[in-house]
Amino acid sequence: MTEETRSATERITENARATEAVGAALGAVLRRGDVIAIDGDLGAGKTCFVRGLARGCGTDAELVRSPTFVLHHVYPGGRITLHHIDCYRLGDGADLGLFDVDALRDDGAVAIEWAQLANLVEHEPVRVTIDIRSGDERAIRLGSGAPSRFVDALEALKT
Ligand code: ADP
Ligand code: MG
Repeated sequence: MTEETRSATERITENARATEAVGAALGAVLRRGDVIAIDGDLGAGKTCFVRGLARGCGTDAELVRSPTFVLHHVYPGGRITLHHIDCYRLGDGADLGLFDVDALRDDGAVAIEWAQLANLVEHEPVRVTIDIRSGDERAIRLGSGAPSRFVDALEALKT
């Protein structure tokens, strides 16, 4: 990857709709081959964020459900296809060898929930961390090393 990168960016959201909007802003600049690794505890808003990603890709966001009991969902029909993987049920040290992640990347973008459970280093993911603050407040952090198109999209997002 030779894309320009800049320092990490954080966004605070006060409700699920705002988290989805952050996802949609990033989804709008998502490209085939991108891997988005989403970390955060149960109920942090990872699935909500992926719903936004799907909307930003131009697919039907209503199709997005928590795939905790289904390992892999595919959302076709948008500007790019979005693959949605959840590592939760795979447990610690999740073996993504189960999926041909490279083949998924050839087909579209890949969003992975509970990414902290899997070793994704070889896929050079863009890391997104969602921290539960007090009440409904969430802090959504884009990892350092994210391509600048993502940082720019976040900065351009009106609160
Ligand atoms: P995860 O996939 O991380 O387990 P979900 O996206 O399935 O989480 O669920 C997040 C839950 O938290 C939803 O019920 C949502 O309505 C609620 N929620 C409250 N505040 C927020 C927020 N700021 N962002 C996202 N979800 C929120
Ligand atoms: Mg989820």
